[in-house]
Amino acid sequence: SGRWSRAVAIVKEFEEKCATPIGKLRQVADAMTVEMHAGLASEGGSKLKMLISYVDNLPTGDEKGLFYALDLGGTNFRVLRVQLGGKVGVVKQEAEEVSIPARLMVGRSNELFDFIAAELAKYVACESEDFQLPAGRQRELGFTFSFPVKQTSLVSGTLISWTKGFAINETIGEDVVSELTKAIERQGLDMRVAALVNDTVGTLAGGRYYDKDVVAAVILGTGTNAAYVERAHAIPKWHGLLPKSGEMVINMEWGNFRSSHLPVTEYDQSLDAESLNPGEQIFEKLISGMYLGDILRRILLRLAEEASFFGDTVPPKLLVPFILRTPDMSAIHHDTSSDLRVVASKLKDILGIMNTSLKTRKMLLELCDIVAKRGARLSAAGVVGILKKQGRDVAAAEKARTVIAMDGGLYEHYTLFRKFLENTLTEMLGEEVASTVIVTHANDGSGIGAALLAASHSQYL
Ligand code: ADP
Ligand code: MG
Repeated sequence: SGRWSRAVAIVKEFEEKCATPIGKLRQVADAMTVEMHAGLASEGGSKLKMLISYVDNLPTGDEKGLFYALDLGGTNFRVLRVQLGGKVGVVKQEAEEVSIPARLMVGRSNELFDFIAAELAKYVACESEDFQLPAGRQRELGFTFSFPVKQTSLVSGTLISWTKGFAINETIGEDVVSELTKAIERQGLDMRVAALVNDTVGTLAGGRYYDKDVVAAVILGTGTNAAYVERAHAIPKWHGLLPKSGEMVINMEWGNFRSSHLPVTEYDQSLDAESLNPGEQIFEKLISGMYLGDILRRILLRLAEEASFFGDTVPPKLLVPFILRTPDMSAIHHDTSSDLRVVASKLKDILGIMNTSLKTRKMLLELCDIVAKRGARLSAAGVVGILKKQGRDVAAAEKARTVIAMDGGLYEHYTLFRKFLENTLTEMLGEEVASTVIVTHANDGSGIGAALLAASHSQYL
């Protein structure tokens, strides 16, 4: 029918606009490397902020004692405690996840920090005897804060901007460690922030603790970002003393990467225009969990409006921003039943759409494929950009391992996304180099990493 061929034409055009052939991916990887250089050269030299983390030593495995971590960076935050036993490793580790009430993400700064500190105080109050704090010592905390922060030391840094759905103007320009410290004091909790780290930096530290060949970390969750180990003398904008290690971890804030080579469609443009941060985080808006489901919703809306894809009327729920979440998209994409019954039930439960034909449901799967593949392949191109910067995209003389620690709900749970990413890395690097590049899942690496960095920067050392 005319409707169906119209739908096919819209999908075909979308697919073409989203295409990421290998040549395009190489351009993206090259552009990433170029922007990395520019961001390291001068403050404001690039859309990539290439933030100095003040982490010039990664965990060695000798860390000892009881440490806490608090991980704030999305819709949930995590509190964690770990008893480190030096050479024997992690003796005991516990974590708890707390969801952040949506109103606090766009409310007052103090209310957000008070909420976090109160949850932290509650958590500390149920510390069991398996955890040992030597008498007279203050508890110490690694604070994982996954938003762009201009750090001035390992324990201070001002917020540059909120991302991922947070928007609290009065926090911008404030020192987030001092905001947290004041809130901790208001709770009457005796605890010191010993390290402020981005989740990527935490994941890198956590990954390194278990594998000494970890040299970069990537987060694919609500948002996306990466950190890697840079040679300190290759950071022209760094005017401080060169660290003894000769190295510095850089928080790229790669979510804000943009390039004319990125395949951006009209759907992405309207998503961006209607977002809380228009013009910002363009790479993130093509890749990460906060947005993939909404890109899918937008193309479905177009199909409903222009090709009566779901019948004569446009299902009203399709007009609701972010109603289709990435975990639901993932469930749709992974439906292997012959009649696509998961797709059918998701359409019904989320969008109120009934009685779709198998042909329609198959088309939905195809759309998931287009959106997820583009995101995963662009993520892989970003990783290759980092490897190029590190000179690790070519075969080494002695087969050195290069390990990339990855974490985040999107990477962890969206199996097809992860497979596309891994396959694309091999496609871009070639079999020989790809066999030396290992991607590992650093489970909750950012929390443990922050605790490890708190340990190696303890006031009692
Ligand atoms: P954050 O990035 O907020 O710190 P996570 O790393 O746990 O937290 O990532 C959560 C995000 O991961 C969710 O917002 C969602 O976009 C994505 N996600 C979670 N579960 C799935 C899933 N099953 N399939 C796809 N994406 C998922
Ligand atoms: Mg996180």
